[in-house]
Amino acid sequence: MKKIAVVEDNPDNRLLVQVILEPFFEVVEYESGFAALAGMAAEKPDLVLLDISLPEMDGGEVLRRMRADPQLQALPVIALTAHAMSGDREKYLGAGFNEYITKPILDEEVLLDAIRRLLPDAAPKGNQS
Ligand code: MN
Repeated sequence: MKKIAVVEDNPDNRLLVQVILEPFFEVVEYESGFAALAGMAAEKPDLVLLDISLPEMDGGEVLRRMRADPQLQALPVIALTAHAMSGDREKYLGAGFNEYITKPILDEEVLLDAIRRLLPDAAPKGNQS
């Protein structure tokens, strides 16, 4: 089972993401960027869901530090952000994120499809062969 790191300071959002992912993935949760960078160095995930709005160190800075770290730089990272604005997708992909998801997550398939694009075959759809 592939491992996904969820970096999100909002406990309700963490719980929602965990409920969506846990049938398919091992989920490791971090409440801050500092905790995530330390934890991922010790226990490397296969993919990262990274909230942009985090206290102390925002998601953009977490990504920059990951991309500068030989151990973490190749990991696929999906930006999670509220307050979506036009042009955001290009902005975040241009900053080095691999995918971009807006909150609130109203349809779990949007999240799972984004992950499937980056981790093929990791979350097979139950009713399809
Ligand atoms: Mn947040």
